[in-house]
Amino acid sequence: MIDILSLYPHEIEDFIVSLGEKSFRASQLFAWLYKGSDSFSGMTNLPRSLISRLEEQAVIKNIVIEQKLVSVIDGTVKYLFALDDGEKIESVFMRYKHGNTICLSTQAGCRMGCSFCASALNGLKRNLLPSEMLLQIIMAERDLGEKISNIVLMGIGEPLDNYDNVIRFLRLVNNKDGLNIGMRHISLSTCGLVDKIDRLSEENLPLTLSVSLHATDDIKRRALMPVANRWSIDKLLASCERYIKKTSRRISFEYALIAGVNDSVEDANKLGRMLAGMLCHLNLIPINPILEKNHKKSEKRAIEVFTRTIETYKISVTVRRRLGSDINASCGQLRAGHSN
Ligand code: SAH
Repeated sequence: MIDILSLYPHEIEDFIVSLGEKSFRASQLFAWLYKGSDSFSGMTNLPRSLISRLEEQAVIKNIVIEQKLVSVIDGTVKYLFALDDGEKIESVFMRYKHGNTICLSTQAGCRMGCSFCASALNGLKRNLLPSEMLLQIIMAERDLGEKISNIVLMGIGEPLDNYDNVIRFLRLVNNKDGLNIGMRHISLSTCGLVDKIDRLSEENLPLTLSVSLHATDDIKRRALMPVANRWSIDKLLASCERYIKKTSRRISFEYALIAGVNDSVEDANKLGRMLAGMLCHLNLIPINPILEKNHKKSEKRAIEVFTRTIETYKISVTVRRRLGSDINASCGQLRAGHSN
C-alpha cells in the first residue's frame, strides 16, 4: 500500500495519472491530505471510481491525540500521539515571539542511548515515516486552530538516524502548496552522526543544524553519549567545520549543564577555546533531571559563571528557557510514563 501523504506532489500526480485520471485530481487530493483528512471516502469532490481505486492501493496514515497537556504558566501544549500501530510519540507546541514553534519526534524511541535522556530509556521501536512527521504539525494546527511557522526536530529520536525519511519530510514541509514552512525556520538537532552531517551538508537545505556536544573531552562525552565511542570530539568538530564551509550556515551547539559533571569553570574555558572563532552559537541547557537517572541540575550561580566565561571567548551564547515546566514538556518523559 502506498503511504500517500509521504509522496511529493509530483509523485501524487504520477500516481493519479497512472490510475487513468486527470492530473488536476492530484491537487484536489493534496489539498484534502494537508487539511488532515483521514479517509479517501470523505474527499467529496473526487469521483467515486477514483476513491475506490485509491482505497485499494493507498493508505492515509493517521495519528490520534492520546493525551494533551496545557501549561498554565506559558501556554505550552504537549501532545502524546498514538500511531497506527500503537506506538506513542510526543510533540510540543510553544509560543515564542518569533512565531509558533513545534518540537517534533522523528522516531518512536531512540537507539543513541544518551545517559540523561528520557527518549533512550527503552531503545528504538521504529523510524517515523515522513507522513507521521507531517501529521504531528497538521494535527496540532487543527487542534489549536493556529498556524505553526517554526519547527525544531528535537523531540523523540535521532533525526539523522532516520535520514531518508527526515530529508523527505523536510522537502515536503517546505512545499509551497503544502505547509510552506521555510527552511530557515527549521532546526535539526543531532547527537553528532559525523557521516550523516557530511551527507546533510550536500543536500542544499538552509536549515539550522544543532549539534549536541555536552562535554569537552572524549572520556566524559563517552560516559554521557555512547555515540562518542564512534567519533571523537575532534572528528565531530571537523565535520562541523566542513558543514559550515559548505553551507555558510551558523551551527548551534547544545551543551546540557549537569552539576559536578561538566559545569566547572575549567569546562567552560575548554569549551570556549574549542569553539572560539567558529561560525556558531552555543545553547546552554540546564539539565532536566529524569527520574530514572542520577543527574543533577547545575546551580544558578554555576550557570551564570559558565555563561560569563564563555562570553570572554566572544562566542554568542544563550541559556535555554524552560517552557512548560508544569507539564513535563521535555520530550520523552510522557512517552516513557506510558510504555510498559
Ligand atoms: N537526538 C537529537 C535530538 C535530541 S533532543 C540530539 O541528540 O541532538 C534535543 C536536545 O535535548 C539534545 O541536545 C539532547 O541532548 C538534549 N536533552 C536530552 N535529554 C535532556 C535532559 N534530560 N535535559 C536537558 N537536555 C536534554
